[in-house]
Amino acid sequence: MKETQLSTTDIHTSRVGLGTWAIGGWMWGGTDEDLSIETIRRALIEGVGLIDTAPIYGFGESERIVGQALKGLERSSFELATKVGIEWHEGNPYRNASRDRILKEIEDSLTRLDTDYIDVYQVHWPDPNVTIEETAATMRELYEQQLIRAVGVSNFSIDQMKQFMEHAPLHTCQPPYNLFERDIEGELKPFCKQNGIALITYGALCRGLLTGKMTMDTTFEGDDLRNVDPKFQAPRYSQYLNAVKRLKQVAEKYQKTLVQLSVNWILQQGIEVALWGARKPEQLADIDGTMDWEISEEDMQQIDQILQEEIENPIGPDFMAPPAREA
Ligand code: NAP
Repeated sequence: MKETQLSTTDIHTSRVGLGTWAIGGWMWGGTDEDLSIETIRRALIEGVGLIDTAPIYGFGESERIVGQALKGLERSSFELATKVGIEWHEGNPYRNASRDRILKEIEDSLTRLDTDYIDVYQVHWPDPNVTIEETAATMRELYEQQLIRAVGVSNFSIDQMKQFMEHAPLHTCQPPYNLFERDIEGELKPFCKQNGIALITYGALCRGLLTGKMTMDTTFEGDDLRNVDPKFQAPRYSQYLNAVKRLKQVAEKYQKTLVQLSVNWILQQGIEVALWGARKPEQLADIDGTMDWEISEEDMQQIDQILQEEIENPIGPDFMAPPAREA
């Protein structure tokens, strides 16, 4: 597995990270703890070093399961990335990136993850009810206390990052990025590159669309977010499926799967770490084969053409944004 250094920190980690949102169960139709633990261990065997989680994923469940899976392993053999700044009441999430909330959450996360430090600590969403100065200054304190090794943000705009950087170091940024969600290419990605902020991007497989296993008949159970994801609704869904069919053909030219093409494409755009969500060990079978090959310039153009021709009205993942607290 290829490695990357995260900004100016001394963290060297794998270019593919394991995303554990689905492992929390919430918004993914439930979880299976044993399979989840097997998946996390399989990721490590495949050379993945970075495991990304968050308190809100299953209201603590994802972090707890990650902690269980890693129990007894040499702490320096993996990197833990988690987040802060979303609270919940009776199953409803709200943004809260206040100083008090951050200081409470870090204690809870350390306990659930069964560790005494976090490698990458990320403000999950900007909180309009708290000044960025308050959030950033609290993150700086944790960094200075060496409770966290890197300061990160997620879902922040460039302006919000600029304000943050006036009060704290900023090492990483976690926005969405995959073949179907490319908003960051315009301004955010160049800004991060210019400012030495490492990109850890989420949704590498666009919630499973880029695995090629979805059909018009695929259904999702319980509270699975894909029941409300606008990409999975008519008329867009068939457009995305048509694009997937043609992207698969590009992958086959290289004797690769669509999953391998999708992850390789992200890494070839200069992203430091692509987060691949999985909750069954066999979903990681393709990891070996995502790197050490290159999509040609001609095929890069072909991919863009496929997307333009098939998707009339592309849409981002904005539906996932949690609300602010009510005043
Ligand atoms: P993703 O990588 O776009 O898709 C993951 C889903 O695809 C899996 O849960 C699984 O769904 C399916 N899948 C994965 N590998 C597969 C394979 N080889 N074959 C068939 N199906 C496969 O995931 P994501 O979880 O949305 O995003 C990745 C990570 O980014 C998250 O887990 C989280 O850590 C992070 N994230 C962060 C934010 C943020 O706001 N910062 C937001 C979203 C995600 P099924 O098991 O249902 O088939």
